[in-house]
Amino acid sequence: MQDKRYGTLLDEQRNFFSTGTTLSIHFRIEQLKKLKAIIQNNESAIVAALRKDLHKSEMESVVTEIIIVTDEIDHIIKNLKKWSKPTKVPSPFPLCWPGKSEIHHEPYGSVLIIGPWNFPFMLIMSPLIGAICAGNCAIVKPSEIASHTQDMIVGLINNHFPSEYITAIKGGPQEVTRLLDEKFDYVFFTGGTQIGKIILEAAARHLTPVTLELGGKSPCIVDETANLDFAARRIVWGKLMNAGQVCLAPDYLYVHHSCKTALVEKLIAAVKKFYGDDPSKSSSYCKIINKRHFDRLTRLLKNGNILYGGSTSEPDLYIAPTLIDNVSWTDPVMQEEIFGPILPILTYDNLEDVIKTVNSHPKPLSLYLFTKNKHHEKNVLKHVSFGGGCINDCLLQIANYHLPFGGVGSSGLGAYHGKYSFETFSHRKSIFRKSPPIDLALEYPPYTRKKLVWLKRLLKLG
Ligand code: NAD
Repeated sequence: MQDKRYGTLLDEQRNFFSTGTTLSIHFRIEQLKKLKAIIQNNESAIVAALRKDLHKSEMESVVTEIIIVTDEIDHIIKNLKKWSKPTKVPSPFPLCWPGKSEIHHEPYGSVLIIGPWNFPFMLIMSPLIGAICAGNCAIVKPSEIASHTQDMIVGLINNHFPSEYITAIKGGPQEVTRLLDEKFDYVFFTGGTQIGKIILEAAARHLTPVTLELGGKSPCIVDETANLDFAARRIVWGKLMNAGQVCLAPDYLYVHHSCKTALVEKLIAAVKKFYGDDPSKSSSYCKIINKRHFDRLTRLLKNGNILYGGSTSEPDLYIAPTLIDNVSWTDPVMQEEIFGPILPILTYDNLEDVIKTVNSHPKPLSLYLFTKNKHHEKNVLKHVSFGGGCINDCLLQIANYHLPFGGVGSSGLGAYHGKYSFETFSHRKSIFRKSPPIDLALEYPPYTRKKLVWLKRLLKLG
């Protein structure tokens, strides 16, 4: 059943799109500048909403939800004119002589952007700036679960942009289902793998192209050559940002057996240094988003053997940073994406076994390797497929807009950020321009043996 309201909204966006207003690069740049100003003028309200939803500190919110977006807007504004020029490419096939070939980027039309709750502001805004820079209209649907941020986004967007150009819709699965009954020109989804399948199926009914930014279990490997002090700090930072509710956080650790004890000591020291002896009192430590996820994570604490942490407080939705060992791949904690502050620690003797084990599971969104051994680095990069990652660090592949961000296999389809966002939200229209108008008789029937011989000679095949 189509929802009349969404159908009408989409018709209005189609009418606006057909006026050609969004084709102007000047218009797109003005809209990006406007969005940046709106974000900057409302920084404290955005920070307050994120504090309510996730207990994010001001610094974490400003860096990971706001600056990362405004910085990308600046980069896109600086480069948009260059990116949107037709790209000239060679025309090597003889039948194309004489002539020129080029790729034109054109907007799809109206795009639907669906966001998750963990970085509820950034993961709506970052795809939205991609949609704007490529000249699309957009409907955004933030996560209903981060309800304060959802209200904030809906207010900011709907008070400042006309709905026939960009609009924000409140709601959850029901609204998404109704929205997907409509024929959008592109769907950009960030969320879990299971819901990603539902989105892909719904989009397939209209043959609508999609990007799926999904999750999974991202391994972090520490070998016997790694600088353990540094690794421990980077892993704790990457695992405990947003209390582990980060799609690309290290999900579990694989450490060479010879350095497990030392690494565990250093991990504990890093947790204490960052969040104190009692992280529940730290203003830098986030809470779990809701009771459902709190209960899910509490159940996972029953797996294996707790080396550190393990305490919880339901009224505060608090789960302590927790290290566990003695887990097996059949335990629930190793069967699902953890998405919380629990870090299972597995040991290995031989890197080849780690590679085999990781490869026997769905392709992860990220992989992190701490090593000084170039051979180990090459081996992992060559033989394991994953969305993206770091050598001797965590998370930072997402912070560089020159790197495409996205998963592979079960962790996602497509990628974005910076120029890749412009590409993702644009159709590449291939144009061959014949000039001057010279005919090659070779092209035309009758297709004789002699013509074939000539063609092969031109192609250096005969
Ligand atoms: P989710 O898939 O539950 O929800 C995402 C969006 O889908 C929400 O807007 C929600 O309203 C909608 N939705 C939920 N159920 C639906 C249904 N049955 N039908 C239609 N729409 C539905 O994800 P989440 O819990 O908000 O976020 C956590 C997941 O997202 C994790 O798996 C995480 O790894 C992943 N994630 C991925 C990235 C990335 O960039 N790859 C970023 C953040 C989160």
